[in-house]
Amino acid sequence: TMEEQSLKEELLAMDRRHLWHHMSPHNDHPVIFAEGQGSWVTDVEGNRYLDGMSGLWCVNVGHGREEIALRAFEQMKTIAYTPLMQSHLPAIRLAEKLSGWIGGPEYRIFFSNSGSEANEVAFKIARQYHHQNGEPTRHKFISRHRAYHGNSMGALAATGQAQRKRKYEPLGMGFQHVPPPYCYRCPFGQSPESCRLECARAIEEAIVWEGAETVAGVIMEPAITGGGVIVPPSGYLPAIREICDKHGVLLIIDEVITGFGRSGERLGHHNYGITADIVTMAKGLTSAYAPLSATAVRAELYEAFRGAGDDTHFRHVNTFGGNPVSCAVALQNLEILEREGLVERAAELGEGLRLRLAGLAEHPHVGDLRFFGFIAGIELVEDRASKEPASADKVMKVLSFCRSRGVILGKNGDTVPGYANIVTAAPPFVTTEAELDLIAGTLREALESL
Ligand code: PMP
Repeated sequence: TMEEQSLKEELLAMDRRHLWHHMSPHNDHPVIFAEGQGSWVTDVEGNRYLDGMSGLWCVNVGHGREEIALRAFEQMKTIAYTPLMQSHLPAIRLAEKLSGWIGGPEYRIFFSNSGSEANEVAFKIARQYHHQNGEPTRHKFISRHRAYHGNSMGALAATGQAQRKRKYEPLGMGFQHVPPPYCYRCPFGQSPESCRLECARAIEEAIVWEGAETVAGVIMEPAITGGGVIVPPSGYLPAIREICDKHGVLLIIDEVITGFGRSGERLGHHNYGITADIVTMAKGLTSAYAPLSATAVRAELYEAFRGAGDDTHFRHVNTFGGNPVSCAVALQNLEILEREGLVERAAELGEGLRLRLAGLAEHPHVGDLRFFGFIAGIELVEDRASKEPASADKVMKVLSFCRSRGVILGKNGDTVPGYANIVTAAPPFVTTEAELDLIAGTLREALESL
């Protein structure tokens, strides 16, 4: 309507004048979203979009969950913040529940505000653990090229994407990168038949040649998500676990995206049967209804921090971390996932998406199709034989076509120019079969339009 039109113009003018967009820096025509329900979001003009990326891989239980809003309201009325940095019911209950979700050995949970911070906390704890354990020279971390671990100086240093980092250097020190387990473009020139997990051995090489006595930890996602949906061969994580044990290095698993059902299991690393020393979680912990992250540390490691006196304290003061409202929201979110069987549902939906997209495998611009739980990565190429990555222009065409048909999909980050060629889908766990049809059908048409 005319009214909606003029409201939008007014808002756009204000947006251009006051807002600094973080994802789209020169965005003069942002979509101004107004409402969300289930897998759908609506803008101020009343256009509807299927949110095929769950926001930024986070709104897993879907938009517009009244129960979560009510839980936040109840908690705010009861007590929204507690003095003296002591304890409170929502944090205690949530930590207990999270330990159950992680399973295996006992963990201690440290709350903070974002995935980046959860990783910073993991790095600080790992370094301090080695200090306390009598090995103060262990300070380095190994991570992988293409991986994304956050926006802060340490988490960005862990990130293996040049484009995100170079204007902000020097970053946190002591981060080394090795090639990822990227089977479609194996950095070691192997095929599935000739593979001897050279990618896992690269991590051991890095540890040995850096000097194991200088290495604090290895950080990785169970499968690289935002960096291009890179799913390792099944033996990779178990091999990394062994290598870390052999060299006294802590294994930090970043579950910021893969956690809470997205992988088809409760946590992504459950798919590989390994135990992590430290698990970092955010996004799906609250389905984005409140900012909250968690760093879970094996209780055994926590023992090193229990000594008498000030020396063994872990120093990371954090005003909002684990506040009662965020914890209550996370509890409600986890209760919804449990009650509605959404982890199992995510696994089924992932299979449904795989079946629906399988037909794209023969498309001349589709080089590879990859799936991890309820995540799809469609790697676009100029040419299937040479595997030359599709141009940024082609990828944008596909995404714009989908958006013009009301389907929001994503792509891997602007990692290195020429390599942002992987279209991603990770819809909410309440997505219906009909909505999966819509996603797959729209994507097919978008590819045909190239
Ligand atoms: N780790 C991974 C794997 C992520 O994808 C992200 C965010 N996209 C982060 C860490 C950082 O989380 P946040 O944006 O909440 O700081």
